[in-house]
Amino acid sequence: MSEIRTKITSLSEQTLADYITGLGQPAFRAKQIFRWLHQRGATSFSRMTDIPKTLIARLEQEAEIECLTVARKQVSKDGTVKYLFRLPDGNCIESVVMRYHYGNTICVSSEVGCRMGCRFCASTQNGLARRLTPGEIAAQVYTAGAELGERISHIVMMGIGEPLDNYENVLGFLHLISSPNGLNIGMRNISLSTCGLVPQIRRLAQEKLGLTLSISLHAPNNPMRSSMMPVNDAYPLEQLIPACRDYQKTTGRRISFEYSMVKGVNDSPKTAKELAALIRGMGAHVNLIPINPVDGSPYSASDAANVERFRALLEQLGVNATVRRRLGTDISAACGQLRQEEAGKEGMPR
Ligand code: SAH
Repeated sequence: MSEIRTKITSLSEQTLADYITGLGQPAFRAKQIFRWLHQRGATSFSRMTDIPKTLIARLEQEAEIECLTVARKQVSKDGTVKYLFRLPDGNCIESVVMRYHYGNTICVSSEVGCRMGCRFCASTQNGLARRLTPGEIAAQVYTAGAELGERISHIVMMGIGEPLDNYENVLGFLHLISSPNGLNIGMRNISLSTCGLVPQIRRLAQEKLGLTLSISLHAPNNPMRSSMMPVNDAYPLEQLIPACRDYQKTTGRRISFEYSMVKGVNDSPKTAKELAALIRGMGAHVNLIPINPVDGSPYSASDAANVERFRALLEQLGVNATVRRRLGTDISAACGQLRQEEAGKEGMPR
């Protein structure tokens, strides 16, 4: 028996097949096990009723199903459910399920914390603890789906962490979750949001996955963007915007831009004009979100009238813009805050 157990829920379909056949088993067993793990969300090997007892015993010895437990759950009046999940090592992450007319969307975390340092974001305040494995990202979808007893049809990678700073594992997750032998969630139903890591955006374009890419833009010039997001010093707008244009060209998919509105920082009519000039002609969509003030952040939200003025001006200048409908505002604010609260409790692992 090996000391470190194989994280079986993080293996790709092919690697799982190699592992199971390597144990002297026929290939169809691997498919059965994959389905148990990724379609039926099995949390123990003993649940796998069509698998021989000897194989189950072997797997129990040397492999591990990455399971999450619900540390806290909050339900909003609008039906939004926010989970604080505890990982096997005691770390906590958050996932949020939003109910839309077209189905249930889950917002998943990709890392425990984040090292990108955006000044308005709660998730980055204590830096990066560690990255999540493919199985741990997938387990958020399986655990929430089982807990709600409802199918989850859409995924947004907008929870805690920077998905493109955990590139390999996020890609592994995307393959697991979209597998016809798993939940079969199509790439068209998946969005991934990044703060703008240019090399990884270019790499992602080459994968031609067909998912929707969102860019957290938040400002149309370098001084303003750098004051909000340190990542802009590494990948300024003259690199980011061409990478976005190339992404669209390569994948045929439109990009959407996230724009969190901060009072007195990025919400003036002049800034709206600058933003329109920067992204005009891309056919891109801008999502305006009044910023969610977090503890220790110097920012406050633009008022609703200002956000609407900003939106109307963008539209007038030929840029498609909507104000994000806010769900779950009564159950706590920006993502990352629940985890911070939990970490603040004495003796709680972060
Ligand atoms: N790291 C990724 C995804 C996580 S955050 C990214 O940066 O895109 C998801 C979105 O919420 C991003 O657009 C992020 O900039 C934004 N965000 C983070 N904190 C926020 C806050 N307090 N108020 C409003 N938007 C916030």
